[in-house]
Amino acid sequence: MMQGTNTDLSPVPLLDIGRGNSLLREEVLQAIAEVYDSGRFLYGPQVTQLEKQIAEICNTDHAVGCASGSDALLLSLMALGIQPGDEVILPSFTFFATASCVSRLGAKVVFVDIDPLTYNVDPAAIEASITRRTRAIIPVHLFGQAARIDAICNIAAKHDVPVVEDAAQAVGAAYHGRPVGSWGQLGCISFYPTKNLGGFGDGGMLTAESDILADRLRLLSAHGMRPRYHHAEIGINSRLDTFQAAALLVKLKHLPSYTAARQQNARRYQELFEDSGLVAECGDGAIELPHQDPAAFHVWNQFGIRVTDGHRDDLRTYLQERKIGSEIYYPIPLHEQSCYRDCGYALGSLPQTEKAAREILHLPIYPELTVDEQVQVVAAIASYFHRAHHQKVA
Ligand SMILES: *Cc1c(COP(=O)(O)O)cnc(C)c1O
Repeated sequence: MMQGTNTDLSPVPLLDIGRGNSLLREEVLQAIAEVYDSGRFLYGPQVTQLEKQIAEICNTDHAVGCASGSDALLLSLMALGIQPGDEVILPSFTFFATASCVSRLGAKVVFVDIDPLTYNVDPAAIEASITRRTRAIIPVHLFGQAARIDAICNIAAKHDVPVVEDAAQAVGAAYHGRPVGSWGQLGCISFYPTKNLGGFGDGGMLTAESDILADRLRLLSAHGMRPRYHHAEIGINSRLDTFQAAALLVKLKHLPSYTAARQQNARRYQELFEDSGLVAECGDGAIELPHQDPAAFHVWNQFGIRVTDGHRDDLRTYLQERKIGSEIYYPIPLHEQSCYRDCGYALGSLPQTEKAAREILHLPIYPELTVDEQVQVVAAIASYFHRAHHQKVA
């Protein structure tokens, strides 16, 4: 047996979707059964109901269902008429889908750096990258915390460029009390199972204030067909199916309590880390807890610590040996991906992004995570650093 491995503790998974979903099993299956019996598998009344409720949460006039968060981003750019030659500004420190929608339309991705405290896109970097070809800006509300969307929208308005909010990880989040998805011309939400409102497969939704844009989204998500078999525009097929909407309606009732539980878990991590002496002890910066922007209502899709001095990967292995799940979002910034290598971003061109990719480590934060499990996670991290410290001293 490996020395120092704690064998009497149960594993702590990074995410256990089953814990929350099992509590709703009967209710969700009942909702699905109703759709089954109705035969209205597309455009059923549950889709409309979910759209209404999401529009309410996001405080927008419209919400339009689609097949995924990735499609929401693509449809947004299609509705805005993005085409080859256009430039779209976005962070490199995000999930791939924020960029692929731009490239799919033949437009040019313009990657910008992040604020090292929040990991969110830096408004000043956005402004510095605006050219006369800039046709859209896609800020990402990363890990559940709103980007500085007020500053971003001001800059965008000054240059008359539309904003598409990537709120895939941030449904229910707000900035200065105003919900994400209501700041830009369009907002994109994902129901991917690991998101805060996680569905049972793929699903997504768009939010919009403008009647014209909302109508274009409905048209473009249904083959650009209007009336039937008449196509003035080239759309795609991207719908939220009724089964998914019916099941999501059941979960949506619990979203406020899921969010509160995530926030409580985040607070508890802060306390546990402070009590462990780890943060103070490593005052020279071995780990840094996530920074919360005071204006942000943070919904904690992820809890990421910064592990400096090259300890991140060793710590992750150490946690793995103790059956504690962790993840790196994101290990390779988009400007370093092979498919974007010819975009001309040299290594070192987005220093804060590259540093974050080397140092960030995400810990379990899901709503049903127990106090004991959090204690276990923090104790393991503390013991790693005590060991590392002793090895250094010896
Ligand atoms: C998950 C995610 C997406 C894509 O959503 P899907 O529903 O998985 O297609 C886009 N952007 C960000 C930041 C995400 O986290």
